[in-house]
Amino acid sequence: MRWWALTFLLGFSLQSGVAVSAALPVEEIAPGVFVHQGVHEEFGDHYHGDIANIGFIIGEQAVAVIDSGGSYLVGLALREAIRARTQKPIRYVINTHVHSDHVFGNAAFEQDNVEFIGHAQLPRAMRSRAEAYETNLKTMLGDAAAGSRIVVSTHTVTAERVIDLGNRRLLLKAWPIAHTDHDLSVMDELTRSWWLGDLLFADRTPSIDGDVPGWLSVIDVLSEIPAARVIPGHGPIVIDKNAALAKQRQYLQTLVKDLKQSIAEGKSMQSAIESAARSEHGQWQLFESTNRRNATMLYPKLEWD
Ligand SMILES: [Zn+2]
Repeated sequence: MRWWALTFLLGFSLQSGVAVSAALPVEEIAPGVFVHQGVHEEFGDHYHGDIANIGFIIGEQAVAVIDSGGSYLVGLALREAIRARTQKPIRYVINTHVHSDHVFGNAAFEQDNVEFIGHAQLPRAMRSRAEAYETNLKTMLGDAAAGSRIVVSTHTVTAERVIDLGNRRLLLKAWPIAHTDHDLSVMDELTRSWWLGDLLFADRTPSIDGDVPGWLSVIDVLSEIPAARVIPGHGPIVIDKNAALAKQRQYLQTLVKDLKQSIAEGKSMQSAIESAARSEHGQWQLFESTNRRNATMLYPKLEWD
């Protein structure tokens, strides 16, 4: 367990629910833009709910959170990190998509009376997965899952929405099916810092929960939009956006091409999955498990193409 999580958990239990001390470590990557970088870990034995990039932006009047972390405790620690820097009201919690490592911290911000914002399709995804996600989290985290539950978006974005934090506009954009069917990006217009959620994976193997052709089309559009820096859903801050997008495109295209070829050659599903995207091994972290999940998910779809 990372030091801040341990300190926080101890403080949390000793104070019977009152949050004390440990703030989540964050880095100010541009003026007023703070990011906590999650670690590259599987959802498994050592999972602590801290694998995604989460953070916040401070304007002249208000604060917006972008993704809240993989547990209530992570959310509270993120809230502590905000309170260590500003007393301005936290008005918005924006979720980039449904995955549990990005949303379980929402509950820590209910006390702030925020707008919980997501893609128009996000509330449906949250409701349909809430029960399974909550059960799984308890299994993986044990006591550290205390207080974690899915808090569904109260406000949604169908195409675009602008939020003003006080002389600081955030442009929220809802995308067609890609990594999921409800990806939302957030552009800080002041610094051109662009939060892409899991539309972009840096280092960590991209995981597919949406549609590959859709994702490839979205990658083309993302490549056309200028940004000074990108905050990917996982991995380090990206300066050369288009190189990172090209690397991800290469993985997705290779995976589909290899699977299609195996199907055309009449190989078994097992061997098709084993051999898919082997050439990408070494380019990515946590490759084996994620690549296998991706291939297993895509194989039946491609078989009918
Ligand atoms: Zn995700």
